[in-house]
Formats: sequence, structure tokens, C-alpha cells
Amino acid sequence: MSKRYTVTAALIYANGPIHIGHLAGCYVPADIYVRYLRAKGAEVAFVSGTDEHGVPITIRAKKEGLTPQAVVDKYYTQIKQSFADFGISFDVYSRTSLPVHHETSQEFFKTIYDKEGFVEETSEQYYDEVAQQFLADRYIIGTCPVCANPNAYGDQCERCGTALSPLELKEPHSTLSGSKPVLKSTKNWYLPLDRMQPEIDKYVGSHTEWKTNVFGQCQSWLKEGLRPRAMTRDLDWGIKVPLPDTDGKVLYVWFEAPIGYISATKDWLIQKNGSDAGWETWWKDQETELVHFIGKDNIVFHCIIFPATLVAEGSYILPSNVPANEFMNLEGDKISTSRNWAVWLHEYLEELPGKQDVLRYVLTANAPETKDSEFTWKDFQTRNNSELVAIYGNFVNRAVVLTHKYCDGKVPARGELTEFDQETLASLADFPAKIAEAVENYRFREGLAVLMDLARLGNKYLAETQPWQVIKTDAERVNTIMNIALQIAANLSIVSEPFLPFTAEKLQQQLGLNANDKGVWQSAGRADLLPDGAAIGEAFLLFEKIEDSVIEKQIQKLHDAKKMNELATKSVPALKPTVQFDDFSKLDLRIGTILEAEKVPKSDKLLKFLVDDGFEKRTILSGIAKHFTPEEMIGRQVTFIANLAPRKIMGQESNGMILMAEDRDGSLSLLQPHKEVWAGASIS
Ligand SMILES: [Zn+2]
Repeated sequence: MSKRYTVTAALIYANGPIHIGHLAGCYVPADIYVRYLRAKGAEVAFVSGTDEHGVPITIRAKKEGLTPQAVVDKYYTQIKQSFADFGISFDVYSRTSLPVHHETSQEFFKTIYDKEGFVEETSEQYYDEVAQQFLADRYIIGTCPVCANPNAYGDQCERCGTALSPLELKEPHSTLSGSKPVLKSTKNWYLPLDRMQPEIDKYVGSHTEWKTNVFGQCQSWLKEGLRPRAMTRDLDWGIKVPLPDTDGKVLYVWFEAPIGYISATKDWLIQKNGSDAGWETWWKDQETELVHFIGKDNIVFHCIIFPATLVAEGSYILPSNVPANEFMNLEGDKISTSRNWAVWLHEYLEELPGKQDVLRYVLTANAPETKDSEFTWKDFQTRNNSELVAIYGNFVNRAVVLTHKYCDGKVPARGELTEFDQETLASLADFPAKIAEAVENYRFREGLAVLMDLARLGNKYLAETQPWQVIKTDAERVNTIMNIALQIAANLSIVSEPFLPFTAEKLQQQLGLNANDKGVWQSAGRADLLPDGAAIGEAFLLFEKIEDSVIEKQIQKLHDAKKMNELATKSVPALKPTVQFDDFSKLDLRIGTILEAEKVPKSDKLLKFLVDDGFEKRTILSGIAKHFTPEEMIGRQVTFIANLAPRKIMGQESNGMILMAEDRDGSLSLLQPHKEVWAGASIS
């Protein structure tokens, strides 16, 4: 392994909070990897940040009635805090609106421009005549030419992952005005990916070790043949193109956003040392390994387009791996921000306090490493109760409690070892290498499973040696047993740290172990991590059982949020065709007063009213029993159609129809005069 790593985790648009799909897709695996590297003693820069340009930001700003700057400020703060609270150990969490990023991107663009690495081209681009704006990227939606998804964006189809340009969309329409765009000519700068393809082929082809989902996607794009891609856009929100006469043009967000990893590294050094001196070590030194953690929707940008810009610039190292994950679904449906079908990190942290590691555990145990996976609250509960509590927590608790009970709370010295003791210690020694092998190959699920096997080894050891029986006859033997159990627990704390950092810290606290040193991984596997006679801390539970009610509440919340969201996006029914005044005036609308009301037997919908219409008492049936009780209707004035032909409903005659307004959620409201009027008052 290399000694120095630049590890990046996806730059997320600062247009909404973080959900479990983001975490499972890239942030949790990236954090495990980085924590492992640090424990192993490597030098690491772990950088990420928010992407604050691009069309999604401006669309969100319009939706929330804020300026783009206010939107990115709001979400940057929230996202950064959630990650910190969740224990994602970034060295820096930066943002692309910082001056250092603008300068770095512009410089980068200028270098390629000066080397004649761009092709300048005036071409016809889609333009929205209503909004008076060119329609780049997500401002335009149409049908994907590859998979026929009717909601493909101008830069990418999110269903099949294909990178698109607006002109490739079928039946394009503007997301600003909904109108059909027209073509208008404009000048932009293109990266000639077609010309660069041989180099990209060679680069990707030399990385057969990449995950099959990543390597396969790249190969299929390369097989189709790369096309030139515009690196500038006609937009007003973004980084200005650093060339004369380019007002109203900004750098393409997928050109500058990955450069954000470079600016974030500079930002980190500036915050730490007051200057960005030394940043090249992390980006230009051949001894540095560059690893990008992303979700599968960003594979093309990180494996082809960003490396191509790095090649065009000429002085940078290329990513050595891009371990992208597939998607995580939620309770049988795709996670969706717009439909509010998600578990939001900031809400999880608030509603299930102190349970960061439970979520880290569940997202890793079920990570979408090779194919899409699914999060369910039931599975969350089961994994907590039957794995973390019953296996991990149970072993540690027994080891600590029994040491207090039989050994005065101090690590006892080992005596003579049985064959079983020796087998157990030999097995213990093998664990760190097995976990390391899995993590170094980005198989975090496997690493976590091996880690749990270590806890199982501890449980098995105690179950078979039975110190609670042996203590009756042989206290010396119990000393040996407890020493071995404690050494297993100490090892568990070291190899757990990358996966379950909060738990590892609590466990070390209980064991009185200080193992936070860089390079501590080298000592894992040893059976002398806890010296004889060292004091053990108080026992406390590492995990607590999660009750059904907690889970039910979360599931209910999910469904409520979805319903609220559906209601919020519901539009009023379309207007009916125009009628002439003569037709309208044929209707006799009146106010009547309800004298009597009762349920219609054998019907759960119908109420029967006796209404004073000014002439007589008439019977009107109305299907509103689910909304009103007979009692609450008596004495009310209502609006009704007085000259509707009588109708028989459930064997009873109805003479007229009471009018109601239907609200967004389907509830009904009476139409009443704003002050009481005489019964039979006509409405015109
Ligand atoms: Zn598609």
C-alpha cells in the first residue's frame, strides 16, 4: 500500500439535506476506508464539500423563494453539521463558492485554454423564449434516447446513467416555463473527448481491478465512442469563464465541481497552516494515491470526464480507484428527495440520539456494493437487537462485568494455556489481516462481517470455558479465561474503530485502553494489548434494544411525509369547458336550513336531511356521512340545487343536492352564507 492518500467523497449539491442513500452510497464507505488508513499509519487527506453551482441550486432557490446564495448557505451549514455529528471524519468540509475554488478552477481552465486543449465552437443551443434563457443541463428535460425515460435531464439520464447533451433529448421542454425551446446560436468551449479517447481508453483499460459495476459502465461508454463536451454554459450562476467577452457564461458545473476536491485540499491547508503550501504533494506527487468515493450516478464524471480534464491540464495524478456504490432503496421504493421518501440524517440524529453507529452498522451490513440494496426499519431493528446487542454488546458486557466480579476489576495475568486457549489466540491473530484485506479492496460489508465474527469468537470462548462455573473450583483458571476474553475485547475495539467509531471509543473507555494512536492497527491481533494488573472501567451497555414502538413511529413518519408531499404537489382540478350564461341561469341555487338529519340505514356514506327551502320541507340525501355527523348538521344553513330532478338513492327519493367544497386532502366544507339569511334565499 501507498503511504499517502488523497481520498475524496462526492461533492453534494447544497440544495437539500443528507439522507441515508447518500451515506450508504459513498460517505460511510469513504469514512471506513479513511479511518482504516489512519489506523494503519498512512498519511491521508480526506476532503469533500458542497457543490454550490449548477442548475439544481437555482431551481431550488426559485422553489424556496430565496437567492441561490441563501440556499447554499443554509444547506452547507446543515450538511456540514450532520456529517460532523455522524462522525464522518473529513479533514475538511469545504464548498465550491469559496474564492480559492473560483481561482483554482479559472486557473485550471486557463491552463487548458492556453495549451489549446479546448475546441471553440459556435453552435445552436436550446433557448427558452418565455424565460429568455439558454437551457443548460437540468433546465431542460426530455426523453432519454437510450432508455426512453421521459424525465431525462439535459446533462444526464438518472435512470440509465448515460451522460447526455440537451440536443440528444427527444421531445425536449424547458423546466423553467414548460415551453418547447427554440434553437439559438451561442459560443462555448468543448473538451474534445473524441480526440482524447485513445488516452482515456488506455487509462481505464489499465484499471481492471476497479469494481465490476464501475469498470463495466466505463467500458460501455467508451465502446459507444466519446463525443466533445462543452465545458462552459450560458448561465448567470456559477464561476465566470476567465476569457474576454464572455459575459453571461460560466464554467460547466461538472468541469469545476471535481476541481473542488483540489480547492478543498488547499482550503484545508489554509485553515490548518495559514497557507496552501504543499498542496501539490496531494495532487501531483506520483507517490500519492487518489481515490474517489461516489454513487453510481457520478461514475462517468469521475472515471472519464474528470480524468480527461486532468490529462488536458497535464500536471496532475489520475484517480487510482473510483469505488462507486449502487443505490440504496427505502422500504420498497426508490429514495426520492422530491417525493420526501427518505430517512434524513439530521432528523435521525435528533430522533435516535446516540445511535450513529447503529445506522453506520446497518448501512454497511447492507451496503449496495455490487447491486442496489434496501433499507427497512424492521431490518434496522433486527440488526440492532440480534447482532449489535446480542452478539457484540453481549460479549463485551460479559467480559467487563465478569472481570469486576471475579478479578477485582483488574486485568488478571494468564496462567497455563489449554489447547482451546491457544486455538482461540491463534484465531484472534488472524482477524486484523482479514478485515484489512476486505477494506483495502473496498469490500466493507465483508470487513464488517469478519469484525462481527471476532465478537462471536469472544462469545464462543466464554460459552465454552464457562468462567461462572469454573470460579467455584479454580480461580486461577478464571484469571486466564478473563485475560483472554479481555484481549479479544481490546482487539475488537481497534478493528471496530473504522466501522463503529463511537462504539470503539466507549469500549476503549471501559477497558481503560488508549488506542487512538496513528498506526495502532499494527498492534491488532496481539494478545497483550491490556497489561496485567491494569484497571478496567465501569461496565455500561454499548447498545440498547430498540422497541417496536420506535420503529413503528419511523415507518408512520415516512408515510405521513409522503402523503403531505403528495398533497403539497397536488394541483386543483382542471377547468370544465365553458358554458353560456343561459345554461348557468337554468340552475336554481338556494340557501336552505337543515331541520332534521339522520343516517340512512345500511349505508356508511349517506345522510338524509329535512331541509326548509322557504316553501316546504324537502328531503335531500347527501353522501357526506364520513365527513359530518347528523347532529352537527342540524340547524345549519347550506347551499343546494333546488331544481335538480328527483333521484332515487337506496330506495329513497332525494329532491336536490347540497353543495360542498373539496379541499386538497379530500375533506369537505359546507358552503354557507356569511350571515344567516332567510330559508329559500336564491343565489345568483
Ligand atoms: Zn436513460
